Amino acid sequence: MENVKQCIIIGCGLTGPVMGMLLVKYKVFEAKDIIIFERAREEQLSSSLGASMCIASTGMSVLEEIGVAEQVANAGVAISRYCYQKCDGQQLGEYDIGYFKDRYGSMMYGVERHTLRQLLLESARSLGIKVLFNKSLERVEQENDSHVTATFSDGTKYQSQILIGADGIHSNVRKSLFKQQGGEQACLDYSGYSLIYGVAERKNEMDSTFHSSIALGKYMITYPCSPTHQCWVINKSEKEEKEQWKMMHQSDVERVFKENQEFQNTYFKDTITNTKRLFKVGIYHHPQDLLSQPWSLGRVVLIGDSAHSISPHLGQGLNLGLQDTKQLTIVLKQQQQQQVGVRDCSWTIESLGKAFKLYEIKRSFPTKMIINKSNQQIKDKISCTTDDFEKECLQTIKYWSNQNIETIQNDFDRRFGYSQQQK
Ligand SMILES: Cc1cc2nc3c(=O)[nH]c(=O)nc-3n(C[C@H](O)[C@H](O)[C@H](O)COP(=O)(O)OP(=O)(O)OC[C@H]3O[C@@H](n4cnc5c(N)ncnc54)[C@H](O)[C@@H]3O)c2cc1C
Repeated sequence: MENVKQCIIIGCGLTGPVMGMLLVKYKVFEAKDIIIFERAREEQLSSSLGASMCIASTGMSVLEEIGVAEQVANAGVAISRYCYQKCDGQQLGEYDIGYFKDRYGSMMYGVERHTLRQLLLESARSLGIKVLFNKSLERVEQENDSHVTATFSDGTKYQSQILIGADGIHSNVRKSLFKQQGGEQACLDYSGYSLIYGVAERKNEMDSTFHSSIALGKYMITYPCSPTHQCWVINKSEKEEKEQWKMMHQSDVERVFKENQEFQNTYFKDTITNTKRLFKVGIYHHPQDLLSQPWSLGRVVLIGDSAHSISPHLGQGLNLGLQDTKQLTIVLKQQQQQQVGVRDCSWTIESLGKAFKLYEIKRSFPTKMIINKSNQQIKDKISCTTDDFEKECLQTIKYWSNQNIETIQNDFDRRFGYSQQQK
């Protein structure tokens, strides 16, 4: 058994490395006392499979703290406009979101997921944080109050004072916690919709706008995710689709184009016909009752998707996870400061319990609010009748044309939880 004295993080996806870096930056731990375990092989991390991300200002401010915001901004594209259309091209609303920079300190950025992942991994390593790949966590155990033991599928075991689960929506850390509480293993619900995701070459004339377009029973978004590429997503309701990312062939591009002809706006044709990578995936999430389960037990705490998964269409999953990393760091730092002068300043189960409870209190309400909003919006957009659809279009036009800027800005704040976090 290798004894890791302080902190184990499970998962080197998006929140895991950020968590490690914040803990070092705030001097909660030294880099040498943190170890991150990742199930994937290292070469899989840089694979261009997977989605692009829209990182809102809330997320960018956390990346700023660990010094990677500039690199992310250079690898991605700042999104300056939001444009909402009906599928036939009729404009429903348009808005300049360049004001995000002044109001929250950063623009919203589109970036490819694999690029972001690679940047975060390199930054964590450059700080001296050890990352072990090909290490799949099987279970965590807390037989006594003094430490937690992580067991991996290759039979190795590691011990630490704190274990942070950043192992995503299928979290084994979470499953272990539920088992310890005598509950059912976490299982996921099919959301009722699937998405087709494409990455297209970006034409010069494509601007830095986030386009959102609605049709009856489906909607489409597209935004730039790198200086050379544009991603697009079509969401629609579907009986049941597998969760795995299914790579589609170039020949499918034509079929997808034909099957979604109701989107007649100009960017639709440009983006879809230029598609270089195409995937289909069913969207799953944690059932409602799991959202009320605690995010920690003993020396173990969850962050990001392992604590709370959210449907991707609002583009908030990563942002919520990044805010978790910041809040967890703050409460651990506060707890550590209160212990100054205590002779044995190792983390007691009581001190961790207090910190984890406070973390959950601070994060759970804004998170649930955004998850509910996300679920409601997808329902409204995809499961509506023809009448509802036309009503929604009219209401949207009215909303965008009648409101003053302050009201619309406040609505953006509410929608993305900015008001609770940053102002
Ligand atoms: C199509 C799509 C589009 C999205 N777009 C956006 C967006 O625009 N904006 C946004 O904010 N969010 C978006 N999201 C959500 C976002 O991707 C997630 O919320 C975010 O990745 C969560 O980060 P995480 O670190 O919690 O989990 P992940 O990024 O999933 O990382 C978990 C890591 O843990 C590893 N792991 C899993 N099990 C184990 C194990 N047993 N042992 C060791 N390691 C393990 C995994 O290999 C992985 O590397 C999108 C999601 C999807 C599906």
